Amino acid sequence: MNQTEATNKPHASANSTPVEKSDSGQGWIGWVFFSDLFAGLRLTFKYMFAKHITMQYPDIEKWQPYSRFRGHHFLLKDEQGDIKCVACELCAKICPSQCIEVIPYEDENGDRHPEVFDIDMGRCLYCGLCEDACPVDAIAMGSHFEFSTYSSKDLLVNKATLLAMPGKTEKGGVVIPASFNSDETVTVTAKNEKGYHWWDAIHR
Ligand code: SF4
Ligand code: SF4
Repeated sequence: MNQTEATNKPHASANSTPVEKSDSGQGWIGWVFFSDLFAGLRLTFKYMFAKHITMQYPDIEKWQPYSRFRGHHFLLKDEQGDIKCVACELCAKICPSQCIEVIPYEDENGDRHPEVFDIDMGRCLYCGLCEDACPVDAIAMGSHFEFSTYSSKDLLVNKATLLAMPGKTEKGGVVIPASFNSDETVTVTAKNEKGYHWWDAIHR
């Protein structure tokens, strides 16, 4: 064996292994790529020939969110009609964007209540941490999602507004009859949810 052969053989052997590994890797990635491509095309064609759904929102229909939907906050009352919040300020402390302000007061029995309960909805992340942290289930995130506005000042909501907000939907994921009002609000016109189920209607 001359010096050239001695230096070339290990070099050739070192090159061959990475090339084989690379080929096998490309083949696997290629298989995954094409399988994803065909899965995507299959879904595209499925929707192309599916029943077309155009939700008539907001004029005559509206989507009812699922109960897990995190919309506008609302404050709850107990059986006696009193606000459940005990002004512990846990929600305000856990809020990552620090958009909740609670100022407590004590009544003649020494019970704490919120004197002020404000949320700046413009800064809220809708993470739901305030709802999770509340020890008495006094705050939750409801189904209301139509509160866009031209002024950020309108997104600063107080205790009275939060107490008047609608709660969670019992049955969501459906389209319900509604009407669009002149003041740009949407009213649900039928209490019984006779609307079609959104996803059921698409996936025939
Ligand atoms: S949802 Fe999250 S960001 Fe919004 S008020 Fe609650 S804790 Fe704060
Ligand atoms: S809403 Fe709940 S967590 Fe927030 S201050 Fe009231 S009792 Fe405490």
